[in-house]
Amino acid sequence: MTQGNHHFIGGAWTPASDPDALVAINPASGERVARFAQADTGEVDAAVNAARRAFPAWADTPLEDRLALLKRVADGIGAAGDELAALITAQMGCPTSFCRAAQIGLPIGDIHTTIAAAERLHDETLGRSLVQKDPVGVVVAITPWNFPLHQIMAKVGPALAAGCTVVLKPSEVTPLDAAVMARIFDAAGAPAGVFNVVFGGRETGAALVSHPEVDMISFTGSTRGGRAVAASAAGDLKKLSLELGGKSANLILDDADLETVIPAALGQAFINSGQVCAALSRLIVPASHKARVEAIAAEAAKGWILGDPTDPATRLGPLATHIQQASVRQAVKDAIGQGARVVAGGLDIPKDLAAGAYVAATVLSDVTSDAAIAQHETFGPVLTLLTYEGEDEAVRIANDTRYGLSGGVWSADEARAVAVARRLRTGQVVINGAGLDLAAPFGGVKQSGLGRENGAYGLEEFVAPKAITRPQA
Ligand code: NAD
Repeated sequence: MTQGNHHFIGGAWTPASDPDALVAINPASGERVARFAQADTGEVDAAVNAARRAFPAWADTPLEDRLALLKRVADGIGAAGDELAALITAQMGCPTSFCRAAQIGLPIGDIHTTIAAAERLHDETLGRSLVQKDPVGVVVAITPWNFPLHQIMAKVGPALAAGCTVVLKPSEVTPLDAAVMARIFDAAGAPAGVFNVVFGGRETGAALVSHPEVDMISFTGSTRGGRAVAASAAGDLKKLSLELGGKSANLILDDADLETVIPAALGQAFINSGQVCAALSRLIVPASHKARVEAIAAEAAKGWILGDPTDPATRLGPLATHIQQASVRQAVKDAIGQGARVVAGGLDIPKDLAAGAYVAATVLSDVTSDAAIAQHETFGPVLTLLTYEGEDEAVRIANDTRYGLSGGVWSADEARAVAVARRLRTGQVVINGAGLDLAAPFGGVKQSGLGRENGAYGLEEFVAPKAITRPQA
């Protein structure tokens, strides 16, 4: 059996009808990593039906047993950490140095925060009513490639904890780590049908979304994909959770120490080659500080060493696909055409990296907020510099996109930064470079999505509260 050539349905590895339909490519070299399957409507149907059959018993399984399964899965991810990290690097180019910590550490952290939140998931009494926390039902989880296991476990963990059963369709860019996840769930003793995995691309995802036996879609991906999912799910009014794109602002207040803040802000834009939905890709700085910011950014960008992701010196691997590379290069080209000035990086890459999907760490200045590069998600290592006069203008520029996923504020005065953060129309704001807090809700407003992931809020998405009301308390 080759990973990805079988679907995992009803607790068994099922030979795929079209096992070699799709190809996973190593973006550092352009070489093939593996062929894998694309599930057809019959396979989608089998997976959804398996999840439907497994649902009543899983919903009735005591919470502590459901959480014990998740704990064993977390241990399984830890034990398979090297194998998983190597697969993720081979499929999407994440530098080894970052991959082991983030791509493996995050899904384990997701599970532990889910368990902590679920331990507080009890029926409650409100007014004259008993509120029972029912699971939503059969959940389809559709995930992207940038943090593939984190995105899987941010959905599958809380769904299973709440008593839902799941059909996962991982990204067609990163199927192999998801195949290992199925193996881990199997070894951890997941009852048949509780967790199913079908491989494939958009067509498989679309077949899952429109399946009448599905109760909820939890989707992470592009805003375009989310819109298509929402339109299809509207037919049956399925419950939706959508984690979509972003063009998040990083506000540097005039009292911030630029020498430390600007290099850190580059990190918030370039980590994972900028392929982070919450990347802080717009750096908004006081107009009076512009020249100094540019000089510091140009110097700091040199530290983002582009290269083979398996080389420990590499900080910036290739983008996940050559299509992604072409899209990012085009965005930079268009920006330059519209008057942006290259402060660092740009379109040139070293000749020895020509076969890979590389883009250098790029900083663009002389950009106005209405420019395409300041409005559209680039999903690459491209930081756009914008300037403001006064805090009100800074906030206005920060809020001036159709997205609202994340944001950052830097100030020597934390209380001042928090006051500005309160004015941003977005799902989360990090103050002075704070790292991701998995206990906090993660998700977007405006066209960045619907619903929240992580911790207690993420768990709530998979719960259907049922009120049982008595005549008297
Ligand atoms: P994508 O939308 O192309 O694909 C995401 C997943 O959805 C894949 O599994 C794909 O096969 C599937 N899919 C695509 N169209 C579909 C459709 N019409 N019906 C059903 N399934 C469909 O996105 P991508 O290129 O894989 O990921 C990058 C995007 O994801 C970026 O826009 C990024 O901002 C976003 N993202 C968001 C978050 C978040 O939490 N908000 C996290 C990571 C990535």
